[in-house]
Amino acid sequence: MSTIGFIGLGNMGFPMASRLAEAGHTLIVDDRDQGAIQRFQDQHPASRTVTGLKAWQEVDIIITMLPNSDIVEAVLTGGVAAAASLNTLFIDMSSSEPIRSRDLGARLEQQGMRYLDAPVSGGVRGAKNGQLAIMVGGRWQDMDQAKELFDVLGRSAIHVGQAGSGHAAKALNNLVSAASVAATVEALRVGERFGIDPKVLNDVLNASSGRSNTSENKVAQFMLSGTYGSGFPIGLMTKDIKIATALADSLNVAAPFSHDCEAIWQSVLDAGHGAEDHTRMFEYLANPITTPAFTDERQINA
Ligand code: NAD
Repeated sequence: MSTIGFIGLGNMGFPMASRLAEAGHTLIVDDRDQGAIQRFQDQHPASRTVTGLKAWQEVDIIITMLPNSDIVEAVLTGGVAAAASLNTLFIDMSSSEPIRSRDLGARLEQQGMRYLDAPVSGGVRGAKNGQLAIMVGGRWQDMDQAKELFDVLGRSAIHVGQAGSGHAAKALNNLVSAASVAATVEALRVGERFGIDPKVLNDVLNASSGRSNTSENKVAQFMLSGTYGSGFPIGLMTKDIKIATALADSLNVAAPFSHDCEAIWQSVLDAGHGAEDHTRMFEYLANPITTPAFTDERQINA
């Protein structure tokens, strides 16, 4: 069993850290939200909170599950990495920026630490059930050490490549997922205008080649039910799409469809809906004012 520092007890981090505590690992948890820490300690009395940077010396592994690269870097370089013992394994399970992650990994290695990026897919439900898909960048031997934890958190852990590759794979996965949400919602709305019940059309998709994670796990559950409770907001999805398009741009790979997808999500974000669940695209893409706006802007920028 390991002593694990876990930073970021949000929608995903809380259930992930809970599973690790329930599997018998010793957890030292931190979050800027004291309420989240308190809730975690109430549910897991054997866990500890961080009392001063010295607490980080006691851990074998530090996992971050934070919103983005800016915050991950600020937290790690803001004292955590300096306080940790040599050879500590840092695992960033957030959805971060791959090139920055590669650089962060190199900096940590120069300080005598080890680094993996291991972002996840599967949402809050997957985090609760230990059914996440984990994509890992970094050294094989470090992944071997983390395997015991990944087995608790996920149904699969795929080694993708060098440090940063996990984050690249995650962003590209979410680009595909976001495109699928937008395409499925547009199809449902067109069908609806023609007189086809969206539930019926979604049944058709699920029985046909248009089926996807969106049609199987989001449309009925979160869109048509009106609950919009997947736990993954529009702001985080748009961040991931932008990581993917920025990666394409930095590698000089033409990705016009991906940029169109980004513009659709960005237009909804700009309309002030970033904190709302991403399945609410079912409502926002139905708004005729939203849809032409991104097309015009793209033509102006062209
Ligand atoms: P969240 O916003 O619910 O949680 C983030 C947590 O980080 C919060 O508890 C917040 O208080 C804490 N935090 C923020 N800044 C901090 C700081 N400076 N120091 C300490 N704690 C700080 O986000 P989430 O949904 O749990 O997502 C976390 C990461 O996982 C993101 O990168 C997201 O893109 C990714 N992700 C989310 C989902 C999902 O379905 N929600 C799925 C897969 C991946």
